[in-house]
Amino acid sequence: MPAPRQVILVVEDEASIAETITYALSTEGFAPVWKTTGREALAVLATQRVALVVLDVGLPDMSGLDVCRELRKQHAVPVIFLTARSSEVDKIVGLELGADDYLAKPFSPRELTARIRAVLRRSNGAIPATPAGWTHDEAKCRISFFGQPLELTRNEYRLLAALLASPGRVFSRDQLMTAAWDDPGASLDRTVDAHVKTLRAKLRAVAPDADPIVTHRGMGYSLREE
Ligand code: CA
Repeated sequence: MPAPRQVILVVEDEASIAETITYALSTEGFAPVWKTTGREALAVLATQRVALVVLDVGLPDMSGLDVCRELRKQHAVPVIFLTARSSEVDKIVGLELGADDYLAKPFSPRELTARIRAVLRRSNGAIPATPAGWTHDEAKCRISFFGQPLELTRNEYRLLAALLASPGRVFSRDQLMTAAWDDPGASLDRTVDAHVKTLRAKLRAVAPDADPIVTHRGMGYSLREE
């Protein structure tokens, strides 16, 4: 049995744009539902399971930003905004409404469907691919780097496992501390740096040029995605 088609709610009052979008979504295997007002969109969200919302900022009855604010009270559904003006982009970004992405008009349907797929991949909690060179045997709490099992302390292991679970994601020192220490309050911020340092030394011993842990100044650390 084929997987059920994911419902994409398209909220757009301009028929020509909406038709282009819904056509593209249908051919890409999604089930589009088209509404022209914010009220109708919220009604759909209240009754139907929606995988993602494509939301025009300029709607006839209310602003798309207000629609987003309303729906955020009930749903964690991902939202991609459509904007006609660059001033709207500032509002979307500035208000931190939890928009997952936005597209400025005019855009190609292909671009929109690519963005939708990317957002859905992220929000479905798809496990990012483990970068080349790594294997993580979670049952045995063992991480290998280029085939070489690493001798890690408990905190080093937990820190590296956190980085490895989300390649590319920048973790703050606080987040790594929480991930790797049972009693984060008891440790100093520097502890994370010290552990990253010893981890890097152990990784360098296996692959001198790989340098897989990336420092983000003033922010924290991430694991190189490939
Ligand atoms: Ca509009």
